[in-house]
Amino acid sequence: METRTLIIGAGLTGLSTAARLRAAGLPVCLLEGSAHVGGQIRTFRKDGFVFETGPNTGTIASPEVAELFELLGLQPEIASPAAANRLIWKGRSLHPLPRNLQEAIGTPLFSFRDKIRILGEPFRARGTEPDETVGAMTRRRLGCSFADYAVDPFLGGIYAGDPDRLVTRFALPKLYQLEQQYGSFIRGAISKARAPRSERDRKASRQVFSIEGGLGRLIDALTDYIGRENILTESSVQHIRQSDTHTYSLTYADASGEEHTLSCRHVVSTAAAHLVPSLIESLVTEDLSSLAQLQYAPMIEVAIGFRHVDASHLPAFGALIPSRENRRILGILFPSDCFRGRAPEGGTLYTIFMGGVRHAYLWDCTDEEIRTIALEELYDMLRIPASSVPDLLHISRHRHAIPQYYADTEQRLDTIRRLEHKHAGLHLGGNMSGGIGMAHRITQGAEIAKRIIVDVAGSASSVR
Ligand SMILES: Cc1cc2nc3c(=O)[nH]c(=O)nc-3n(C[C@H](O)[C@H](O)[C@H](O)COP(=O)(O)OP(=O)(O)OC[C@H]3O[C@@H](n4cnc5c(N)ncnc54)[C@H](O)[C@@H]3O)c2cc1C
Repeated sequence: METRTLIIGAGLTGLSTAARLRAAGLPVCLLEGSAHVGGQIRTFRKDGFVFETGPNTGTIASPEVAELFELLGLQPEIASPAAANRLIWKGRSLHPLPRNLQEAIGTPLFSFRDKIRILGEPFRARGTEPDETVGAMTRRRLGCSFADYAVDPFLGGIYAGDPDRLVTRFALPKLYQLEQQYGSFIRGAISKARAPRSERDRKASRQVFSIEGGLGRLIDALTDYIGRENILTESSVQHIRQSDTHTYSLTYADASGEEHTLSCRHVVSTAAAHLVPSLIESLVTEDLSSLAQLQYAPMIEVAIGFRHVDASHLPAFGALIPSRENRRILGILFPSDCFRGRAPEGGTLYTIFMGGVRHAYLWDCTDEEIRTIALEELYDMLRIPASSVPDLLHISRHRHAIPQYYADTEQRLDTIRRLEHKHAGLHLGGNMSGGIGMAHRITQGAEIAKRIIVDVAGSASSVR
C-alpha cells in the first residue's frame, strides 16, 4: 500500500505537516515551485544586519508550536521585555498602547467618553449578528476611539486589513468566543485566565519568539528534520488527478519544464487560495469561485539599518499607525530592541510595513519611490535627523501577503469541507483557512498530519 504523502508547497504549513509525518515514521515528499524552502519566511544577512523579508516573529499561541520546537530540538529566542511595549501614533507622537485597565484610563489614545464606556463593557449586551465585523463589534462594545486607536492599528499590523470588512468570528475567533461564551471581553479574559489548564495547554503562552539568527533557522531545522532529499524545489505542481478511490496522481514540472508524475494516497495542498482551482480542476466539478476570489492584501517590507543613529522612541516591539492618522505606512518594527544580533554592536534595525488593503496603490510604486516614502516616514516619526544615511535598505514585496477573512469565509470553508469529504485523502490547507499567523500554520500542519496518521494506521490494520 502506498503510504507516502505528497505536499504541495514547502512553506511553514507544508514543512510543519511533513515534520509531524516524519515523526510518525511516514514517508513524505514536498514539492516546492520556487527555488527556496520556507515560503514567505526568509532571513537575510548583510553587513552585520540580520533581517527578515517575511514574518519577523511568531507567538507560542498553541501547544503545537511548543511541540514543534521540542520535536526539532530547537530553542526559540523569546523577545526581550521591551517587546511588551507597543506604540501607537496619534497626533504628532507615539504613545504606549495600554496593557491594562489602569493604563487604558490614563492614555491619551482614547476619548474620555470611551474610557467610561470601557468600564461598562462587562455589562453590555451580547451581539447577535454572526458576521459582525471587528470594527463594528469593537465600536459597539468599547467605543469609536478604542476601535480607531487600538483595533484598527492592531489589524493593520496583523492583517494589513480593514476592520470594517474583517469578520470577527473568522479573523479574531478568540475575541468572538469571549463575547459568545462570557458575554464580555473583559469578563471572558478574566475567566479564561483563571480557568485550570491541562499540562499540554500550559505549553501555549503569549510569548513572542524568533530564533537566534532569524526565522530562517526554523526553516533550516525543519529541512534537516524532514531530510533535504524529501524536498523537491523548482518543482511546480500542475494538477492533481484521482487514479482510483485511494490513489492520487500529481504532475509537476521541474526547472527545465519537464513534466513528472508521482502517486500517493494523501495529497496536501498548502498553496494560496487563488492557485488551488487550477490544481484540482480535473478532480472536481464544483464551483471553486469562493477559493479563487479570496482577497489577499499586498505588502511591501522595507528593512532599514543604521550602524549609529539618533532616534527618539521607547524601546518597544514597534509602532503601529491608525488609518485615521493618514500616514503612508502601516507600522514600524524595532527588531534590534527585541532580539540579539539583528544589527552590528551599537546599531539599530527597523522594519517598515507598507501597502495592505488600505494602501494597495503603493504596490505600483517603484523601489525608488518606496525608499523615499519609507525614509521620510521613519525619520519624521522617530525624529531621526534628515542628514542620517542608512547603512542597509532592503525592499521586499509580497503580492499575495495576507488573506482577508471577510463575510465570504463561511462559503469558502464550506467548499473546502465538501471537497475534503468527497475526496478522501485530499487535504486543502494553507492560510485560506485556519488563520494567517505562523502559529496557525504550525497548528494546521499538526492537524492535517494527525488525520493522515490516523488514516494510515486504520488502513494498515484493515489490511492485516
Ligand atoms: C510580509 C509578511 C509579514 C508577516 N508577518 C507575520 C508575523 O509577524 N507573524 C506571523 O505569525 N505571521 C506573519 N506573516 C504570515 C506568515 O508568514 C504565514 O502565516 C506563513 O509563513 C505562511 O506559510 P504557508 O506555508 O501557509 O504559506 P507560504 O509561505 O506562502 O508557502 C506556500 C508555498 O507553496 C508554494 N506553492 C504554491 N503553489 C505551488 C505549486 N503549484 N507547486 C509547488 N509549490 C507551490 C509557494 O511557492 C510557497 O513556497 C507574515 C506574512 C507576510 C507576507
